[in-house]
Amino acid sequence: MTTANEIENQYDVIVVGSGAGAMTSAIFAADQGNSVLIVEKSDKYGGTSAISGGGIWIPNNDEFKALGGNDSYDSALTYIKASSQGSVEESRIRAYLDNAPKMIRELQANSRVKYAVADKYPDYYPHLEGSLPGGRTMDPELFDTTGLGDEMDHQQPASGNTLLMGKMAWTARQAHKAVAKERGWMLMIIGLMLRYKLDFKARKKGRRDSRAGLGASLSASLRHSLIDRNIPLWRNTAFTDFVMDGDRVTGIKVTKDGQEIELSAKHGVIMGSGGFEQNQQLREKYLPAPSQQRWSATPAGCNTGAGLEAGLKIGAATDLLDWCWWAPTLNVPKEPSARGLFAERAFPGAIVVDGLGKRFFNEAAPYLEFGDAMYKNNEATGGKSVPAWVVFDSHFRFEYAMGPLMPGKIMPDSRAPKAWRDDVYFKADTLDELAGLIDVDAKGLAETTEKMNRYAETGIDEDFQRGGNVFDRYYGDSHVKPNPCLAPIKKGPFYAMKINPGDIGTKGGLLTNDSAQVVTPSGEAIEGLYAIGNCSSSVMGTSYPGAGSTIGPAMTFGYVAANHISANRK
Ligand code: FAD
Repeated sequence: MTTANEIENQYDVIVVGSGAGAMTSAIFAADQGNSVLIVEKSDKYGGTSAISGGGIWIPNNDEFKALGGNDSYDSALTYIKASSQGSVEESRIRAYLDNAPKMIRELQANSRVKYAVADKYPDYYPHLEGSLPGGRTMDPELFDTTGLGDEMDHQQPASGNTLLMGKMAWTARQAHKAVAKERGWMLMIIGLMLRYKLDFKARKKGRRDSRAGLGASLSASLRHSLIDRNIPLWRNTAFTDFVMDGDRVTGIKVTKDGQEIELSAKHGVIMGSGGFEQNQQLREKYLPAPSQQRWSATPAGCNTGAGLEAGLKIGAATDLLDWCWWAPTLNVPKEPSARGLFAERAFPGAIVVDGLGKRFFNEAAPYLEFGDAMYKNNEATGGKSVPAWVVFDSHFRFEYAMGPLMPGKIMPDSRAPKAWRDDVYFKADTLDELAGLIDVDAKGLAETTEKMNRYAETGIDEDFQRGGNVFDRYYGDSHVKPNPCLAPIKKGPFYAMKINPGDIGTKGGLLTNDSAQVVTPSGEAIEGLYAIGNCSSSVMGTSYPGAGSTIGPAMTFGYVAANHISANRK
């Protein structure tokens, strides 16, 4: 077998991209005796995976069982089938369910990656058969990055909204405890702050926490595991095309430091080059209009669809190209990517209205459905819900965060950057005045808030049943009664923030089979070519069954691809 050190441009396996799925596949491929190279276009490794929550949705995982949790293959299958509504082949769903628990078991046993189960994080569709109120989402443990040294400077930097007060690492379980104000949350925050402040060695160096959480933890622990194995990761190296021998992919072409190079991959190429959300032309070609690259919460300029375009050239089939992992997002001046509004929509006392001043969906619904609803309502109203507006009052402003605005008790308006006023947020003494500022129908807004104030009293949202299920309530305020997701909007001044139907990645891409091989429209595998993550079309079809439904499959099919390559090595 060729080793990476003998000839620099010949490898057994080449992995394109350095997201979580890509790094996972490289680790498994290397552990099975392959020489492996990772090429990454950006000067930073980690992709969207590194700035994400790092959650992975793994039905039937060992950690949940160890806590006495009750899950089964069959209930997960029933649930995914119900949520994806026939948009994916059942055999691919089965391949996912067969391999996901094995992938994370083996990865944790053999690498630095460590997860715990988020046993209270509910599946996103509690009304569907087979759903669970918690136990399928796994949350990265905090990871000590000191051993990685300067290599951490080359990781996609965690965005402010994944860090406590914009600087401290925490887990999703800790973030939830604080958001829901569960018993002991204050003490926990004080503990996290002390730990950060008393880390004198790190504080001498600067602001960055020496521990990484969420996607940063996943990415750093994978990167460290690559270093343990001496797997090379070439940054600033962009895949441009495949090298073919007849119908078989035998390598790739890359641009590295301005030079075109051909690299040979004896046993396989694994494409983990992300989706096409950072390519405005492809957005306009495939996604519903209007669509803007700057609404994406993914790292600017990274995922431009190179894998998709090269795959199309060699006859690959595609699917779901008109879908994103939608998420309502807002833009903040000087920030290169948009910020997703994942949890805040569920906090009591914020509503989302269109230009008519009307609500059009349950604000606490999962982000994929909310983004989709923005498009549907935009069409139904002749263009009135792109943008839409989050509206809240001064009580909400004081108590809760919204996008970059920390709760007013920590960040009063006087401490928010001046440039945000009349850009990120609008403020007025009355709702009427606010409606005028943001060009929303004032009568509609008045009627909507009156209704919401009534619903807050009864605890029942008669229009969209907000707070009516365990998922909605996950991000509600447990102290607010009778419904943790509903509160009146009464006390001026009033605020509004503009949101767009953004995304956390595209969902469609190269069609793959149960072994993660890219297939042609007739279903034949293209030998030597695998695709994982958002470069491939999602195994979840048009659905988002639970937190971690994008990275869980990316890592799982990375594992599947590595196993298939090793099993079929000649
Ligand atoms: P990426 O992780 O983006 O990796 C693709 C890599 O390929 C990039 O580094 C890119 O630079 C590189 N690349 C692109 N083109 C080329 C080329 N031509 N040559 C070489 N390299 C190339 N999902 C979850 O499942 N769980 C979560 O908790 C979660 N939280 C999120 C939170 C936020 C704030 C955001 C923005 C997203 C979140 N997501 C989450 C979504 C998830 O992060 C992405 O869907 C997922 O990381 C995509 O993985 P990927 O490997 O396909 O792409």
